[in-house]
Amino acid sequence: MVAAAPKDERIDRWRNLGLQKWFGEFSERGLRVLGRRYEKLEPASSGTLFVECRLGQEFLDDAPGNDMRISCGHSTWAQGWPGVRKLVLCPKWAMEKGPDANMERVQSIVHEAMHYLGMQDMSVQVTNSSGKTERKKAYRETYAQLLAQERPGAARFNAENLGYFAVSRLP
Ligand SMILES: [Zn+2]
Repeated sequence: MVAAAPKDERIDRWRNLGLQKWFGEFSERGLRVLGRRYEKLEPASSGTLFVECRLGQEFLDDAPGNDMRISCGHSTWAQGWPGVRKLVLCPKWAMEKGPDANMERVQSIVHEAMHYLGMQDMSVQVTNSSGKTERKKAYRETYAQLLAQERPGAARFNAENLGYFAVSRLP
């Protein structure tokens, strides 16, 4: 539908939807790739994704040696795995407070579901307060947006960017 429109219209639509913020400048390839990713996540094509809630439990790691070892550490919100129809919500997911907490909770579910499709946690180069550059996982809005500007191709592959764009479209 979108791909059939004239190019100028597609560019306008890209901007109006806010895709620029999360995936950089318009590109035909970007539009195609993103369309496929979100379509694949629709229940009709992905089937059911099971959600395991570990919210009431202490922070704990599964025994080493388990292939899908769940590590609900103090900074882990949730986990998902490529090709595994399950995502796990950790205590941190439920405990988060603040004005954006609910948005972040929804975002993290889309994020983990994107791992099911094989998307990853990409990194971005950031400059710290003492002027040194380092690579960080492109988590949270600031780093996700930085990644979109620096490496749009990587942003399309980053679970966090895909999650934020999805929640930006919620009413
Ligand atoms: Zn992730």
